[in-house]
This record gives sequence, C-alpha cells and structure tokens, in this order.
Amino acid sequence: MRQRQVFVALLLALSFGVLWSLDLGRFIGFEQLKAHQAELTAWRLQQPLTAAALYFAGYVLATALSVPGALIITLAGGAVFGFGWGLLIVSFASTLGATLAFWVSRFLLRDWVESRWGERLAEIQAGVDKEGAYYLLTLRLLPVVPFFLINLLMGLTRMKTWTYYWVSQVGMLAGTAVVVNAGTQLAQLDSTQGIFSPMLLGSLLLLSVFPLLARRVVHALQKRKVYARWASVRPTQFDRNLIVIGAGAAGLVTAYIAAAVKAKVTLIEAHKMGGDCLNTGCVPSKALIKSAKLAHQMRHAGQYGLRDTLPHFSFKAVMQRVNNIIAAVAPHDSVERYTALGVEVLQGTAKLINPWTVEVSLHNGQVQRLSARSIVIAAGARPVVPPIPGLHEVGFVTSDTLWDALAQCDEIPQRMLVLGGGPIGCELSQCFARLGAQVTQVEKGDRLMAREDEEVSSWVRNTLQADGVQVLTGHQVLRCERRGAEKILVAHVQGQEVELAFDVLVCAVGREARLQGYGLEDIGLPTQHTVQTNDYLQTLYPHIYAAGDVAGPYQFTHTAAHQAWYAAVNALFGEVKSFKVDYRAIPSATFIDPEVARVGLNEQEALSQGVAYEVTRYGIDDLDRAIADSEAHGFVKVLTVPGKDRILGVTVVGAHASDMLAEFVLAMKHGLGLNKILGTVHLYPTMAEANKYVAGEWKRAHAPKKVLAWLEKYHAWRRG
Ligand SMILES: Cc1cc2nc3c(=O)[nH]c(=O)nc-3n(C[C@H](O)[C@H](O)[C@H](O)COP(=O)(O)OP(=O)(O)OC[C@H]3O[C@@H](n4cnc5c(N)ncnc54)[C@H](O)[C@@H]3O)c2cc1C
Repeated sequence: MRQRQVFVALLLALSFGVLWSLDLGRFIGFEQLKAHQAELTAWRLQQPLTAAALYFAGYVLATALSVPGALIITLAGGAVFGFGWGLLIVSFASTLGATLAFWVSRFLLRDWVESRWGERLAEIQAGVDKEGAYYLLTLRLLPVVPFFLINLLMGLTRMKTWTYYWVSQVGMLAGTAVVVNAGTQLAQLDSTQGIFSPMLLGSLLLLSVFPLLARRVVHALQKRKVYARWASVRPTQFDRNLIVIGAGAAGLVTAYIAAAVKAKVTLIEAHKMGGDCLNTGCVPSKALIKSAKLAHQMRHAGQYGLRDTLPHFSFKAVMQRVNNIIAAVAPHDSVERYTALGVEVLQGTAKLINPWTVEVSLHNGQVQRLSARSIVIAAGARPVVPPIPGLHEVGFVTSDTLWDALAQCDEIPQRMLVLGGGPIGCELSQCFARLGAQVTQVEKGDRLMAREDEEVSSWVRNTLQADGVQVLTGHQVLRCERRGAEKILVAHVQGQEVELAFDVLVCAVGREARLQGYGLEDIGLPTQHTVQTNDYLQTLYPHIYAAGDVAGPYQFTHTAAHQAWYAAVNALFGEVKSFKVDYRAIPSATFIDPEVARVGLNEQEALSQGVAYEVTRYGIDDLDRAIADSEAHGFVKVLTVPGKDRILGVTVVGAHASDMLAEFVLAMKHGLGLNKILGTVHLYPTMAEANKYVAGEWKRAHAPKKVLAWLEKYHAWRRG
C-alpha cells in the first residue's frame, strides 16, 4: 500500500471511530426518529439553512463512509424538510456521498483487487465498458441492491466518475422519492417495512428492467435498419445453414464444426484447399527451415565431434522436398476428406450477392447461387506490395509466389534481397543464407522484429548476422532500378543513398486482409484493414461472421482455427447462446534458429499499457539438456504481477522455444501461477525443465527472508 493510501485508510478508520464513540446509532432508529420528529421539525423551522446544511453534510458523510442507516436518514429528510426540499437535498447528498464512496473504493481497493483477481476484473471491466451505464442504472433503480455495495463494486472498475455520478443521480431518484414521501407521512407509518409495498416493489422492478429492455428494442430497431434495404430479397427459406467462403485454416475448421453438429454446410475455395498455411505459409516455410538447419549443422558438425562438412545438394531437390511435404499434408485439408466429413465443397470463386446469397463461379465454368441462414467469411490475407517506384519493372516475389519461383531454380539465387524485418522476413533470410545465398535484409525501422523486446531484436539480429545475413535496419527504400542486366534497390539511410544489387527480391513487408472482389463492398460490409467484427465475430449483418486473417487482429493459423470455433458455433446457435472470442493467452512464434516464442505481455507492451510487472529470467545456457545438445543459448523471461506468481507474459528464446511455451500458455489460460509450475515434475533431461527453473528463480527471489532467518536460528538451536 502506498503512503497516501495508508493515510486515507487511517483517516477513514478515525472517522469510523469518531462516529462509533458518539454512538450516533441511537438516533438512527425508526422509533427514535418518530420520537424526535417534532423537535427536529421545530429546529428546521428556526434555522432552516443550518438544518439543511448539517443534514446534507451528515448524509454525504454517512454515504461516503458506507455506514448503515441510509433508509432512516432518507425518511428523516422527508419528515423534517417535506417532500420537495427533502427530495432535492437527499438526491444530491446521496449521489455526492455515493460518488465519494466510489472514489474511496477505487483509491484504496482497486490496485489490490486488480493484482489478485485481475482477469475477473478485466471481464467485469469489459462489460462495464460496453454497457456499464445501463447496468448501473438497473442496479440503481432496484432499491433491493444495497447502495453502498454498488458504490464499492463500481469503484473497482474504470467507469468514468461523471458517468457514475449522473447515472446514480437519475437512477436513485425514483427510490429516493418513495422513501422521502414516506417520511412526510411518518406519523402514519408503523415500521420501515411498510414503505415498499409489493405493488411498489413490482413497479420499481419493472422500471429497473426498462433500460435493458429499451436497449434490446434499440438493437432490434438497428438490426431492422441494417436489413431494411434487403427486405425484398431476403429468402423465406434457405438452401443451407451455413456457407463458408475460403478453405484456409479458418474456413476448414468452421466447416468441420458445422458438419460435426449436422448442419448443412458448403465450403467454397477459389484457389487451393488449405489456404496460405498449407500452400505458401507455415508448411513450406517450416519444411525449408528444416533443410536449412541441417545444412547449417553439417557446416558446424565439429561441435558435435564430427567433421565440419560443406553440404552438397541440389536446390531443386530441396524445393522438391518442400513440395513433397505440402503434398503429404494436403490430404488433411482435401476435398475428399471434407466431403467424407459431410461438408459440401465447391471449387470456385464466391461472391456475396446479398446478405444471404452467394454466387459461386465454379472452376468448371458453371455459376451457382446458394443461400444460407448464416455466412462465415474466411477469405484470408495476401502479401502487401509496397508502392516502390520501379518495383514491378525489376520484378519481385512474395510469400505467395516465391515457392513456385524457387522450385524452377537449379541453384539458389546468389544475391537475395529480403525486404522486411518481421517474422516472415527473418525466417526466410536465415533459410536462404544457410542454403548458400548472399542475403541482405532491409528493414526501415531501427530493429528487427520490433514487436518483441529490444533484447530479443538484438538477439535475432546477432543470430542472423552469424549466419551471414547482412542486416540493414533504418533503411528507407526509395526505388528500384534496372541497369543493364543488374537489378538495384536504392535506399536512404542517414542522409545518404545506398545501392544494393540483387538477383531476387523477396517482398516480406506484411500481409493485408483480402477485402476486395467478392462483394463485401456491394453489400456495404464495413472494412478497415480487416472485416469489422464485434466480440462474437459478427459483422454489420449479425448473421454474417468473419474469422481468420480476414478478421484479424492476429495472423496465425492457430488463431484462425480458434476464431473458427466461435464463428461456427455463434453462426449456428447464436440465437440461443453466443460466445465472445477468448483472446487470453494467444501464443506466437518465429521459427528462426534459435526460436523466439511468446505468450502474453512482453516488457515493452507492459510499459506501454501501464501494467506493473516483475521480471524473472532463466538462462538456457545453464540447462543440462541444452548443454548436451550443444544448444546452450537463449533464455526464458517471465513477467509476473509484482509480489505474486501470476503470469502476465513469457518470452522464450532458444531451441524448441515454441514447444516449451505450451506449458506457459496452459498456465496463463487456466490461471496457474509459477508456484504450480515449480510444483510439477518435469522430465529430465528436457528443454522444458527451463520452465521449472525459471519458476524456481522466482521462488528464490520471493523467499520469506524473515522466516528463513528464524529457521536458521532454529536449526542452530537444534544443533545445540
Ligand atoms: C511465409 C508464411 C509463413 C507463415 N508461418 C506461420 C506459422 O509458422 N505459424 C502460424 O500460425 N501462421 C503462419 N503463417 C500465417 C498463416 O499462414 C495464416 O495466418 C493462416 O493461413 C490464415 O488462415 P485463414 O484461413 O485466415 O486464411 P488463408 O489461409 O489465407 O485462407 C483463405 C482462403 O480463402 C480463399 N478465398 C479468398 N477469397 C475467396 C473467394 N472469394 N471465394 C472462395 N475462396 C476465397 C483463398 O484462396 C484462401 O485459400 C505464415 C504465413 C506465411 C505467408
């Protein structure tokens, strides 16, 4: 607890103490109020301003300190000041007091609650961000929820004070009016029970659900408005339950789930089944990485006690192997497999004609129109081609075209220029260098893999340079030129132009969602870098969903598959129950050697988001298995909540980092802390032991020093 918090806590304790010692409770009973009503009214008539000011201040104080008795004090307001003045004074005093209590809770408790139950709080916060004012209004309108509890709970969220104030003022008005009015007839009341008759409570209950009902109505009206222009074309019945556009990771998994729950589903693919991952992404790149790694190990076989050997190979054979591997994995994503699973697979280009109808231009020349109750857009992404003057004239390849282009080469191109310092650029640069090309990697930012912490970027740079890649950061590309047979890229760096000659230019500057050419614009689906979706992956038209690279925010196969589950289930069963996509614990890896893998926050993200953290590190150079494998380099870096073992994020750099990360992904997803990892038996000797050792480092740093000092004394005493 910080000093200021301690001060406020002490001040509150003191105020409670004073109230307690004055035994004010004796005045805040129903009978006492009735007994003193005449006196109090006489006093108010003599000194109206003083009476109102003292009553107001007392009310604010009692509410701010969350002391019980608000009902009696409010009754007193009516009894002493009458309905009009009573309501005015109580309404402002109670709202001001409630806002102060809300602040006190925020100031004293929020950090503490956040550090203990941060994820829970984050969920509540997400709800508050979205519909906080409505919830608060509902709670306020319903006088059965103790108001002091609402103040304390809402203080834990990040709701704006002004929102809290005005919603409270409006929401409490009806309940306050009832009680103040009851106060004006105090003489006729026998007890506080009589204030809220079942009839009155019923009315307030109706009033309290009104805002939520109103919202539902507004939603329904918005929905009607969205669909209004399509009213005449909306089919009265549908051919299918679901149409899925695109058979990459997102589309395949969506169709799989739909078929598994016996929905009638059609999957449409314009190009190759399996999408990017199988044909131009993960699978070919990882196959090439393996060949490149082996070539590298042969060159450095001396470190394993063998002789360093220059790898002799046919590049064509290497690329043939890549194609063989694609072919070996392809049956998993094939038309045959999906047809057998119960999915109707159409090979052709899909186009949205209206929100329920998709036109398919089949590869066999036929055109088919299909309708479905729901549609999932899973059209993926494509490589970004930057607007560099002369680029198209000199020619270039991207992740889409490089595999076919390289498959034609007998030898690896001699001088390869890789544009882009992100994960794909780094993986490809290292591969090409290890397979014998002179690789120059050009990045306009000041470091590679800029989403990672700076130390990771330097690690990656050193690794690539050790493999012979010339890494040029801070280079702004100006143009490409052809000079005779020579192809040149001109870049700007520190006020100078540099010229880089190349044989093949690989453009790896990022990938953008595929948004054009299949009807999104025709039906008015909003896009902004990606198809815009809500937390349930619904687009503007609630029955049209998007998943995978086309929807973002991630561009991974595993996130595409993860979103696909939500898209399929929400599309088919959303009218009964919808699920928000859970983006906690999303792992990512860059498969350079050694690998870089991460889940959750790294330091630069924690700093930019203002999240307090502690860092614990374990050096993999110390790990038995890594030493045995001559892979003794890298580290595990864990960010935790200060003083707690709760994991905020993990970065692993090292051999098999992507596999090692799985344990942390599980831990984060299920709220397991480092103590649990430490208490788990890890097989010896494995790389995964590093996870346990980093947990051990954390434990050592948080050992209870005082207890240990006492234990030392105890053992000394036992020795006699
Ligand atoms: C070089 C490279 C390496 C990568 N490595 C990894 C990795 O190691 N790990 C990882 O997780 N991710 C990796 N990725 C990213 C991964 O490939 C993508 O995130 C993943 O493929 C996205 O799947 P998707 O289903 O969203 O899109 P896609 O796989 O792109 O599938 C979309 C499909 O929709 C089809 N389509 C588009 N429009 C239409 C239309 N109108 N009608 C019919 N069909 C249409 C397309 O032809 C395509 O097949 C890599 C990507 C690249 C380029």
